[in-house]
Amino acid sequence: MPKVIPVADELSKPFWDAVNQKRLVLQNCAACDKLQYPPRETCAKCGSAEQLGWKEVEGKGHISTNIVIEDGRLNRRMPDQPYILALITLDQDPSINFYSNLPGIPTYEVPVGSAVEVIYEEVAPDQLIHEWQVIG
Ligand SMILES: [Zn+2]
Repeated sequence: MPKVIPVADELSKPFWDAVNQKRLVLQNCAACDKLQYPPRETCAKCGSAEQLGWKEVEGKGHISTNIVIEDGRLNRRMPDQPYILALITLDQDPSINFYSNLPGIPTYEVPVGSAVEVIYEEVAPDQLIHEWQVIG
């Protein structure tokens, strides 16, 4: 499936720079010790902007749930339908979730609950994206 090529802005640049180094870093609020993703201007919990930094996390998680997109409205994705949209919950902090297309998993056979790990796929020269792959 063709992947969306990320366009980093000032806010998300540290995230994408890390992905390009095959590292997963999330915003972390030093004031309330809270991770957040995707990046925001302020901490979603306490509202601090000054205390937001970046923290590397372990790219391990599990599949919380999934849907199969059969009739989506994104034109560029229509040729790929049906495809998986899985919700990945980060083991290190279950309040953090990612979406994944679960490469290699048959569309209607998603092993909900299975462990996944982050992988990095090249979508353009010098541009990686994070994806999630079922372990074992
Ligand atoms: Zn905070």
